[in-house]
Amino acid sequence: MRIHDRPSPNHDPRPEGAAVDMLVLHYTGMRSGAAALERLRDPAAGVSAHYLVEEDGTVFRLVPEERRARHAGLSHWRGREGLNAGSIGVEIVNPGHEWGYRPFPALQMGAVAELCLGILARHPIPARNVVAHSDIAPDRKQDPGELFDWEGLAALGIGLWPAPAAPPPEEEARALLGRIGYRTDLPLPVLVTAFQRHWRPARVDGVADAETRARMAGLLARIEA
Ligand SMILES: [Zn+2]
Repeated sequence: MRIHDRPSPNHDPRPEGAAVDMLVLHYTGMRSGAAALERLRDPAAGVSAHYLVEEDGTVFRLVPEERRARHAGLSHWRGREGLNAGSIGVEIVNPGHEWGYRPFPALQMGAVAELCLGILARHPIPARNVVAHSDIAPDRKQDPGELFDWEGLAALGIGLWPAPAAPPPEEEARALLGRIGYRTDLPLPVLVTAFQRHWRPARVDGVADAETRARMAGLLARIEA
């Protein structure tokens, strides 16, 4: 695929010995792709990502993959924090929940898929470590949100989608979320909402109903297969 270089100054060396083993997907959450690209290259803003994918499928490279970009912020997954160190960050243009959340066009999703397949071919990233920003910062972030086609990506080998499963008892929900990778010291509805945005997008209400719990178990079945 053709990738256009739009270098950002906002990056650092990865810490010594930090392998890239996570892929974090975001939406930009700004009024336009151009505004997002400008911000992600602004030294005063100090933020960045490795790539930005426009709604028409144009892909920009802002930070080389071997450098640490600044996209995750305060973050936690599977007992680790500060996830910029070992991750690749991809920003996907969408106004987001604040500015008019809308479907991700097919052209854009095709480019996201192709880009992600390339990243996964270059780095040893386990499928369970392909995550949303909202998975690793559930109390702060909603992106890329419930309109994002995680199921379609999983069908292409990018991340995981739950297997059919029976719902476990309600009191197990928090422990299941912890085994998936979420931090567990947040209110349960916050964690359930994040899980639903990624793995049960038809219902994002923070309620761990039977179908939501079945999907937690079904995802763990894939993870632990
Ligand atoms: Zn984000």
